[in-house]
Amino acid sequence: MAVLEEAVLEEVVLVAAGKRIDRKTGEELLLCPRCRIDMKKLKRKDVVIDICRKCGGMWVDAGELEKLANLGDPKKS
Ligand SMILES: [Zn+2]
Repeated sequence: MAVLEEAVLEEVVLVAAGKRIDRKTGEELLLCPRCRIDMKKLKRKDVVIDICRKCGGMWVDAGELEKLANLGDPKKS
């Protein structure tokens, strides 16, 4: 009977939740809900946008979307 390593098991759980840990950088990667592939991280100041290379979908957290809107309007503080 094969026994899963703890690290492997953790990755399986994260994939199920739509996230994956990059083994090289330790960075948390989001998976595209449509394509189930790693998305490219794009940084705009303190906002991180995840972009899917395949379908071109952009995914941001709810709070990040607000920050992005504020970046486009310098009068807002
Ligand atoms: Zn996609």
